[in-house]
Amino acid sequence: MSLMRDDVAHRPARSWNPLTLALLASLWLATASNWPLWRSLLDLPENSGGHGLLFAAGFAAMVASLTFVLLALLAWRRSVKPAIAFFLVSAAACAHFMGSYGVVIDPTMMTNVVQTNATETRDLLSLRLLLSVVLLAGVPMLWLLRLPLQRLGWAGQARRNLLGVAGGLAVLAALVFALFADLSSTMRNHKQIRYQISPLNAFYSSAALLRAAQASPGGPPSPIGLDARLMPPAVASRPPLFLLVVGETARADRFALNGYGRPTNPRLSTLDVVSFRDVTSCGTSTAASLPCMFSHLGRGGFGARQQDHEDLLDLAQRVGLAVLWIDNQSGCKGLCERVPKVHASEGAPPGLCIDGECLDEALLHGLDDRLAALPAERRARGVLLVMHQMGSHGPAYWRRSPADGKPFQPECETNALQQCDVQALGNAYDNSIVYTDRVLAGAIDWLKRQRSTFEPTMLYVSDHGESLGEKGLYLHGLPYSVAPREQTHVPMIVWTASPQRTQCLAALRDQPLSHDHLFHSVAGALGIRAAEYRADLDLFAACRAP
Ligand SMILES: [Zn+2]
Repeated sequence: MSLMRDDVAHRPARSWNPLTLALLASLWLATASNWPLWRSLLDLPENSGGHGLLFAAGFAAMVASLTFVLLALLAWRRSVKPAIAFFLVSAAACAHFMGSYGVVIDPTMMTNVVQTNATETRDLLSLRLLLSVVLLAGVPMLWLLRLPLQRLGWAGQARRNLLGVAGGLAVLAALVFALFADLSSTMRNHKQIRYQISPLNAFYSSAALLRAAQASPGGPPSPIGLDARLMPPAVASRPPLFLLVVGETARADRFALNGYGRPTNPRLSTLDVVSFRDVTSCGTSTAASLPCMFSHLGRGGFGARQQDHEDLLDLAQRVGLAVLWIDNQSGCKGLCERVPKVHASEGAPPGLCIDGECLDEALLHGLDDRLAALPAERRARGVLLVMHQMGSHGPAYWRRSPADGKPFQPECETNALQQCDVQALGNAYDNSIVYTDRVLAGAIDWLKRQRSTFEPTMLYVSDHGESLGEKGLYLHGLPYSVAPREQTHVPMIVWTASPQRTQCLAALRDQPLSHDHLFHSVAGALGIRAAEYRADLDLFAACRAP
């Protein structure tokens, strides 16, 4: 009897499974520990009112699910309490720095943390930091860490934890699906938000730093076209002048030339151009598409590559052609590193640029001088000019067309796209296409004036498309495998100085084509032959004769 009584007296009132502790800690972390995140999220103009509160609540549930998935992996008898303590203290410190200094914890900030010196550290260690750690980490730890834990055995706990992970992922997936429109727009318009989710921001940024530190130095890309040679020009004594216009965020189906119901190509439709109607992009973002477009490998080969190679520009330069990259964006993603380059804002007339951001007509400014400044002996062999457009870069589509080039009204004038009327959003976007039409027609006008010296050709192709609210999606950048056609169906337009060649190209108008054709078509048109060149991907191969 006494034994039994003793047993009852010493049996804990209740023992807790490690997974339950993980769940409770996740809820605390997602709510209290993330107060700076909720403050920022609710401060966004698009999150005012009930809709914003609902979205913030759903976002909190997402953060809780994600945190729970991570903690569930660590929810073992011996590890769950140290893991929770680590999460709580990390989050409390992040909350303090984000809340007090308005910073976000991204890899750059993490670099600062790692490189900070003792004086700076002392300056940052304040009473408020201590208060934050005590309130946000100390209080829950006092309670959580004293709770007795269940002994389920290895297999039983593993089964539970796996169920926990699966459940957490399922809830997360359901929430992402339900809130996708708000979520994608918020993440694109306010990239910093993702670096305010603590302590995941600190973990992610630390991992990113470690990965960067471990990455091999890389070295120069492996050369291509070591055997490259130039064919004699098809037109005697006139070297090729190839203008490649790299479009931005343009959708093929918004071009009147491709059958769109609105007059978005008022200028190009009066010119003798060929618009290829079935062209697929290599990626769904600038960073993914651009290097792939200028590579000889094509989408499949580029994705599977073991090392970086030189690009089309290197090849053109190697065979002795003059190359110039004119940028009207933030850069060329490493493509133009080894060739002459200039930013469109340099020397642009007033009115086209505000704070260094220019309308695309700045690309056309001073072209004669830019051409003349290229080495004469290279010019004599041929020229490859690349213009990198601002195009239809979102979400501020209304900024992509000048006041005198907005035929479609009214325009959506906010970055919170999901709050705009579909029609107004379409108007702003279509105006950017009309402006691209003007820029391309202007480029063709300029090319026509070079005919006494050169054999000119223009090829325009966009890097990727854009979602404009279809299926609740906005902007671009979805993983390729799930990206809708709107994000990968891109316009491609060619103008040549020869009506016969243009007519020949028109036969390919409805053929399925892709960015894979770009390298080989440009190289082919410039008369470059090399081991990497593939005639079967050269649009101009069958239309060589003038
Ligand atoms: Zn892009």
